[in-house]
Amino acid sequence: MPALLRRWGFPAFALVMLVLPALPVPDFWITESIYIGLYAIVALGLVLLTGVAGLTSFGQAAFVGVGAYTAAFLATKLGVSPWLTLFAGVALAIAAALVLGAITLRMSGHYLPLATIAWGLALNYSMANMEWLGKYDGLLGVPTLHLFGHDLGAGRGLHVLIWLVALVAALALSRLLDSRAGRAIRALKDGSTMAEAMGISTFRYKLLAFVIAAMLAAISGWLFAHFQRTVNPTPFALGKGIEYLFMAVLGGVGQVWGAFVGSALVRIVGDQLQVLLPRLLGTSGSFEGVVFGIVIVLVLKYAPDGLWPFFARWWPAPARTRDWGGAAPLPTREHPARGELLLDVDAVRKEFGGLVAVNDVSFQIRSGDIVGLIGPNGAGKSTTFNLITGVLSLTRGHVRLRGRPIGGLPSREIARLGVSRTFQHVKLIPGMTVLENVALGAYLRSHSGALSAMLRLDRAEERRLFAEAERQLERIGMAAQMNELAGNLALGPQRLMEIARALASDPTLLLLDEPAAGLRHQEKQALAAVLRQLKAEGMSLLLVEHDMDFVMGLTDRIVVMEFGNRLIEGTPDEVQASPAVRAAYLGTEH
Ligand code: ADP
Ligand code: MG
Repeated sequence: MPALLRRWGFPAFALVMLVLPALPVPDFWITESIYIGLYAIVALGLVLLTGVAGLTSFGQAAFVGVGAYTAAFLATKLGVSPWLTLFAGVALAIAAALVLGAITLRMSGHYLPLATIAWGLALNYSMANMEWLGKYDGLLGVPTLHLFGHDLGAGRGLHVLIWLVALVAALALSRLLDSRAGRAIRALKDGSTMAEAMGISTFRYKLLAFVIAAMLAAISGWLFAHFQRTVNPTPFALGKGIEYLFMAVLGGVGQVWGAFVGSALVRIVGDQLQVLLPRLLGTSGSFEGVVFGIVIVLVLKYAPDGLWPFFARWWPAPARTRDWGGAAPLPTREHPARGELLLDVDAVRKEFGGLVAVNDVSFQIRSGDIVGLIGPNGAGKSTTFNLITGVLSLTRGHVRLRGRPIGGLPSREIARLGVSRTFQHVKLIPGMTVLENVALGAYLRSHSGALSAMLRLDRAEERRLFAEAERQLERIGMAAQMNELAGNLALGPQRLMEIARALASDPTLLLLDEPAAGLRHQEKQALAAVLRQLKAEGMSLLLVEHDMDFVMGLTDRIVVMEFGNRLIEGTPDEVQASPAVRAAYLGTEH
């Protein structure tokens, strides 16, 4: 049954919605269905923006208004063809989204919601007060749409077009989410550090999600104008923007199909309540808003993932069929010759307020070396890692990669130059499979964008990406777990998965922050074998580790840190023999 639903669920749903107008369904239900389709188009954008990317917009109703008013104004005042007004409305919405996004999306989370509220209020206020937009009366007499000489009217004909748009949008969105760009968007919710370290410009993808959501809202508005044949400010007010958000949350944050569930429930239940509540309460008024308010609190408390997961039990996500056998390997980079000076850490310093976390530390890594960075907790090892990889900015000092200064570069640029890393506190996308997580590591070795994903022109490259991800998982002995959700793995395998993800970038220098922490003895042995194999292949490694035996057996040289200072640098034997190290590190740990 699940397999059957998976295969035929969408085509069956699409067919029903598209032929509905031809069936003897009462006009009332066609109208309801039109509203649901119009809402779903907007809610789909919010599923991407809020549900998947974790960015909240209260201003979608304003974008709907842009589409609707552009259509109404150009058609009624200037007699412009509706297909041109669609283009104009969407272009205006994109421009507005780009401006709002460029200002707010680089800042931390709260600025976008605030900006969308301001945008929603300002736009609604303008619509209601501008003479040429008809003030509160709006614009009347919007013509109906014609398609192939056929008048679509404002009922059954238009229903087909609206649902066609909604279904195509849903299909495009679910394709997008299952792609290189989609994985980048799905990575946005869990902070930007990991995504940026994989070479992803998180700002670009936030902006993309915001623009797509605005486009969908404007298209819905354009359809709305030709359905109502009139526009006025009320349907585009801030309250409606909150209602759209409610639809996306109710249906299921991050679930494409949840947008339809949410839109249908809000429309149908809202309508019933509008009739029922005044009768029950004995007075007139819009009480359904109060009920929605209560329901949204309940949903957020008891079903934070919305209602779709309850349906999804019968409609589980398909496991990816292994279709990448024999896919061509991804492009590789040119690696330095063994012994070449690879990384030059030159008197780097990091101060956090008054605390000197890294105090003018210097060391070098030559190509093909495994260098260990050890020291007690709080010595500044992870901070040093973050300085090298651009996660933190240098207070002072220089970092050079093959002679090229990389201090001050954003971490995605450093990743592009061949430095890849894992994190002491594992950073993965729990809702993605192990394979998809590892594919994220090969982001910079691929190119497909959002549009080619929606059109499914990216499949050949996707196969190459997954072949690479599987190859790296095989390398660390995790191929059997590739279809599991990364969030379900134990800590040990999660750490190994991070190594596979870093390897997928074809790095010149690999930085591992406590890779053996949380691993069982056998897993540690396997990891050591992998690292030796990597060294044999010429990989250069910087390794932060607590397990002394693990480091001693593996490294060529060791840098010991204490309280931000470099205590000593030498071969494992020299370090082990040093009294200072014994006092600082071994004495306290062993
Ligand atoms: P290690 O990895 O060697 O255990 P860290 O580099 O994580 O040590 O930390 C070094 C010191 O810097 C610690 O005292 C830690 O509390 C401090 N520190 C690390 N990150 C920050 C930060 N973002 N803000 C303030 N202090 C920090
Ligand atoms: Mg650390």
